Amino acid sequence: MTDFDGQGRRAYRPLGGWVEAPDDPQPELEGEAAADVIVVGAGFAGLSTALELAARGAKVIVLEREFAGFGASGRNAGYLAGGQGLEYDLFLKRVGQEQAKQIVRFYDEGVDYVERKLGEYGIDCDYNASGIIRAGVHPSQEKKLRESMRTGVELGSPGEFLDYAAMRARGIPPAFLFGCHVPTGGTLDPGKYVMGLRRAALRAGVPIHENTKVLSWTDGSTITVQTERGRARAPFLVLATNAYTPQLGLLRNKVMPLRVSALETEPLSAAQLASLGWPGREGIVTSHWTMESHRLTARNTLVLTTKRLRYVYGLQTPNVPDEAAYRELAKALHERFPMLGDLAIRSCWSGYISFAYDALPVVGEAGAERNILYTAGCSGHGLGTQSLMGLLLAERILGTEHQLLSALRHKTPSTLPEPLQWCVMNSALSVANMLDDRVNRKARDAALQ
Ligand SMILES: Cc1cc2nc3c(=O)[nH]c(=O)nc-3n(C[C@H](O)[C@H](O)[C@H](O)COP(=O)(O)OP(=O)(O)OC[C@H]3O[C@@H](n4cnc5c(N)ncnc54)[C@H](O)[C@@H]3O)c2cc1C
Repeated sequence: MTDFDGQGRRAYRPLGGWVEAPDDPQPELEGEAAADVIVVGAGFAGLSTALELAARGAKVIVLEREFAGFGASGRNAGYLAGGQGLEYDLFLKRVGQEQAKQIVRFYDEGVDYVERKLGEYGIDCDYNASGIIRAGVHPSQEKKLRESMRTGVELGSPGEFLDYAAMRARGIPPAFLFGCHVPTGGTLDPGKYVMGLRRAALRAGVPIHENTKVLSWTDGSTITVQTERGRARAPFLVLATNAYTPQLGLLRNKVMPLRVSALETEPLSAAQLASLGWPGREGIVTSHWTMESHRLTARNTLVLTTKRLRYVYGLQTPNVPDEAAYRELAKALHERFPMLGDLAIRSCWSGYISFAYDALPVVGEAGAERNILYTAGCSGHGLGTQSLMGLLLAERILGTEHQLLSALRHKTPSTLPEPLQWCVMNSALSVANMLDDRVNRKARDAALQ
């Protein structure tokens, strides 16, 4: 990717574009520790669970392999989105209309939950409650988008169709021809959000042990967790390790990590911003088979994500650049925003989401005493949902099952053994890329006419 940013610098950032390693690293776990609950993983899910437990008087410790926010929570696109536009085709028939309504409600409640918590914890993360637009870049995408919007509305999540004139009236950049506007949610700086949760947890007296990799645990009414230099004991263990969970030996046949990549431009000048229009700065996602996401940040940069997903053989999650994905994102940048000319790229990064074949959350209990709780499989929608999951898991541990947790319980389809899974996933992703490339070619041709 040499010269990728047009200035002879490499733009790859291994920690993503939003966070740096904290300048107050929390001490590694050494020796023995005991608590009511041990939470493994300090992303949205782990930190929210710890905060909810601490608020209810439980003694909780968090063990994090790197630092809080190192995973997808510090690398995502920052869309706080609800239940409109989910991959309904993958789960509606399996779970039925009534459970699907409750699942969609879970996603929508995730938006309200985060909005509430930003106020409660005093987190300023540049939240823009603009709603989100799922847009088409070519007329051939309209039918699918309208159908999906209708399903979302039937399942209880709001959405309004915007035709070409309505998109132009909002000042949406012209590459996005029509769309479904979801009035709830918006965009935020996920780095500031996750670091705000970290600060709130520390303020609440929750010990977070960073640089503390969990190696194994014992089953039983008291669980002992082994780390490189210490051991912790508790009656409950929460694995909030999302895409990394299969590497811990759990959910290996239920979820798989998928690599998602992102690109951020240099800040736009006042003239470039004016050429864009886009006064509401709504987060835009496209209705491709593998979506593109396009948003402005508070620092006036553009962040693009996805377009290409990658599955790495054997459920691995190497923290490495994905240059082919960055090239595709750069192409999308120039195609969707030709008015910006050769805008320089400031950074590129990749992270991992966890994906189940039905694209639904995978939450439940394991162990002989059912006292090992896990949450994974939130696909690319974990900002709201994995935060809300903290409340559901905390209540469950303290003896109450929230309605929405019950709603998420279902049989997750099993994944395939290797090398079959690698072949199937990469074939499916290649077909999606081919179909999306065809739409993009048609959009390019139409723009030239
Ligand atoms: C590029 C990208 C864009 C995305 N965009 C969006 C978006 O716009 N909106 C949205 O809703 N979602 C988005 N997502 C998904 C979202 O970021 C995730 O669903 C969410 O952050 C998951 O949170 P989490 O806390 O479950 O997991 P993570 O944030 O991944 O946290 C898991 C933590 O576990 C730690 N860990 C792993 N193994 C161990 C171990 N052995 N011992 C101790 N600790 C361990 C990891 O270091 C990590 O910090 C995106 C994801 C990516 C990668």
